[in-house]
Amino acid sequence: MKKIAVKYIFISLFVLLSSPALPQDNALFFDAAGTPANPKVQVSWNKYHTYAGVTDFCKKLAEAYPDLVTLSSPGKSFQGRDIHVLTISDKKSGDPDHKPGFWIDGNIHSIELQGTEMAMYTAWYICEMFDENTFINQLLKDKVFYIAPTINPDSRDYFANTGVPPRSGLMPYDNDRDGKFDEDGSEDMNGDKNISQIRRKNPDGTFITDPKDPRRMIRVSPGEKGEYEILGMEGIDNDGDGMINEDGPGGYDGNRDWGFNWEPNYIQGGAHKYPFSQPENQAVLAFITEHRNIAGAQSFHNSGGMILKGPSIQGGGAEAYSSTDDAVIDAIGKKGELIIAGYRLVTIWKDMYTVFGGELDWWHGAMGCFVFSNELWNSYLMFYDTASTDQYEFDRLLLFEDSFIPWQKMNHPVYGEVEIGGFSKMAGRLHPGFMLETDAHRNAAFCIYNSFQSPKLEIKDLKVTKLEGGLKEVTATVANRRMLPTHSASNIKYKIDPPDYVFLDGGTVIAGMVVENKDLNITREQKKNPRRMELSNINGYQQISLKWLVKGGNKYTIRVESVKGGQTSAQAE
Ligand SMILES: [Zn+2]
Repeated sequence: MKKIAVKYIFISLFVLLSSPALPQDNALFFDAAGTPANPKVQVSWNKYHTYAGVTDFCKKLAEAYPDLVTLSSPGKSFQGRDIHVLTISDKKSGDPDHKPGFWIDGNIHSIELQGTEMAMYTAWYICEMFDENTFINQLLKDKVFYIAPTINPDSRDYFANTGVPPRSGLMPYDNDRDGKFDEDGSEDMNGDKNISQIRRKNPDGTFITDPKDPRRMIRVSPGEKGEYEILGMEGIDNDGDGMINEDGPGGYDGNRDWGFNWEPNYIQGGAHKYPFSQPENQAVLAFITEHRNIAGAQSFHNSGGMILKGPSIQGGGAEAYSSTDDAVIDAIGKKGELIIAGYRLVTIWKDMYTVFGGELDWWHGAMGCFVFSNELWNSYLMFYDTASTDQYEFDRLLLFEDSFIPWQKMNHPVYGEVEIGGFSKMAGRLHPGFMLETDAHRNAAFCIYNSFQSPKLEIKDLKVTKLEGGLKEVTATVANRRMLPTHSASNIKYKIDPPDYVFLDGGTVIAGMVVENKDLNITREQKKNPRRMELSNINGYQQISLKWLVKGGNKYTIRVESVKGGQTSAQAE
């Protein structure tokens, strides 16, 4: 009996160790719609990942799907952590880097953690659905995703292990300009991995506890008697300068560091030294400049339940943003409002604030991409009701007070007897576990829709006609089957990418022309190098017909090469 038990334990251990992510037993489940039936990589989407967790996930996905996934690191964070990028596409159907690309990044701001989970979920979903779903299968044949779950990994771990990090990365910064760097941050005085509020009993204070919910502090009306004063966040005066928590880790802004419409720190707070002066953004830049095929991009922030679109430039940046680009961005963004229930489409400069050196404007102005930034989570999602947004009630009724740290007495070296407590770092901006997967799926679906709408070029009506004198006429039409043009207006204006090329291989090309009106036989000849016809842009849903006169040859190949529109070819005799 004992022997069998030992043997059984041994086998169980062996199974556990040899395959850490066992596929589930199909006898125990059947499929829900729209969900991978039997994922090779098992992930709990109701938790947040440490950097080690992100790394582990990326490695497992790359190992499980070698024909789809390549894991790379274009650079390291300030503290030396790799910035992971997952390249995901059907490798067998063509070189991923020659397909229209879609970029996703998360967590540029440290406390905006869940962008990482949105990015990871998207990566996981398209891999696990590749063999199960016709739409996803075709999408990965046509397109490529470049997914960077966290582009600020140092602060992510800081968040997990200590209290609430700054908005920035962890490069030391002299916030109070006293010549010392990061010398006076907050302290987790009760060791609960949270930086909580401090309150102190004071009859002259301006706060009392709410009789309906004594956890809540409310301000008294003028003349009314108070009970408490609020003294900021947990911490002490480390450097003895009479201020508490005035120079914590970091202190700049990763989203004011991008090389388009950039301004220095005295004009744009958080800008740091010069464009791309932060190592994490340098790594991202290195990857993106090597992947000019990226046509669309998505960056994840929190919070507010918004799908942000550019410009964030003061006055609307008419110089960089045209109405034709805006029409495309609007059409995709409006669909986003439907896909991500509870989120609304917002123009940054008009509806929020203006930004210099923001990532969004850089993508559009310097890379010619169509880009969105989603502010994840909002108070509406608590009760699906704009009128009921009480966080205390949500915490009480749905989380059973799990996101609130009860006020507890402690002795503070400066303030004496105080109480610390309040909402934990997981409340307010971050999804509670049970809602994380839902929003991850909706945000992934928005990315998938966006990527789907990047150009899909096809060659149709390829025809060879014999003419007199041994000449042949070759005609073909290049069609873009999707909403995005191969070139945004900003791309054309700033000459970011070369034009789209249409090659004719086989025979000697005597003349090449674009057919401007088929019925009236109006053409525009390209005198220079007609073997390689140049199209400045192929608009969304546009079709462009071409005509060549060719001498010799008997097999003709038409090849389209577009940086952001991908490559395709067709042959005729
Ligand atoms: Zn943010």
